[in-house]
Amino acid sequence: MSGSAKRSSVDASPPAGAGGATHGPLVLVGPSGAGKTTIAARLVERNPGRFALSVSATTRRPRAGEEDGRDYHFVLRRDFDRMVRAGEFAEWAEVHGERYGTPAANLVPVRERGPVIVLDIDIQGARQVMRRAESALVIFILPAGPDEWIDRLAGRGTESPREIARRLRTALQELAEAPSFGQFVVNADLDRAADEVLALVKGVGSDRGGGRGFASLRHALDAGARAEIERLDAAGGADSADQGA
Ligand code: ADP
Ligand code: 5GP
Repeated sequence: MSGSAKRSSVDASPPAGAGGATHGPLVLVGPSGAGKTTIAARLVERNPGRFALSVSATTRRPRAGEEDGRDYHFVLRRDFDRMVRAGEFAEWAEVHGERYGTPAANLVPVRERGPVIVLDIDIQGARQVMRRAESALVIFILPAGPDEWIDRLAGRGTESPREIARRLRTALQELAEAPSFGQFVVNADLDRAADEVLALVKGVGSDRGGGRGFASLRHALDAGARAEIERLDAAGGADSADQGA
């Protein structure tokens, strides 16, 4: 990754929603396993030239099949911390015990005619981007229900039961904060979810999550996550003393 960009401003476009379509960064947030990465990839695949993925830096180790520079810039903790000190991140956060950050260079320049930059980041990072880039459009991705969510999270096969439990604990916090984010998309069918995100980017369609369906989905997801954490704890796969490891 280029370590040279130190621009502090990431915003050169009109505010999201001000005139319909957004040209600012598109930020997908939501609990692990909700489908953020998959939706982002589908958006880029279906709309070549219109969207581009922001590749983050992380201190976590690559998973099988992940490529340095494509999925993440995999960096050592000391290099990550040096980049923080040098002001090279537009935002960064510690998530599930590892550090993740968006290189400021990824968001500069945000041009009206260039692709919309898609960020798949956690809610702490999203709040930093919202403060920094007024034009950011933040969409909270929700799993369609607790069973398919847990199945997808486990079925991805990329985390140990202990790691899944840790992600579910983080998810409880994310679900609690969900109402403070602007827009929501439920990821049942992938193409439909990607289309709904595209519609929000175009400034057509809006789901501010005010309905009763949204509240009951959130409660169902919360209950499902708690039950799964309990199950994993009982099976010895999760260890709450392991939170800081
Ligand atoms: P996140 O990035 O939010 O952690 P992922 O994009 O990795 O979530 O999705 C979690 C798992 O669910 C992946 O294995 C992915 O292939 C699968 N998945 C995501 N969206 C759908 C969908 N709409 N239908 C079926 N499987 C999905
Ligand atoms: P994973 O380890 O599953 O790839 O990602 C774990 C979490 O870190 C996800 O919630 C993901 O959205 C978040 N994440 C990935 N990149 C960044 C980033 O650059 N900044 C922040 N704040 N979070 C990130």
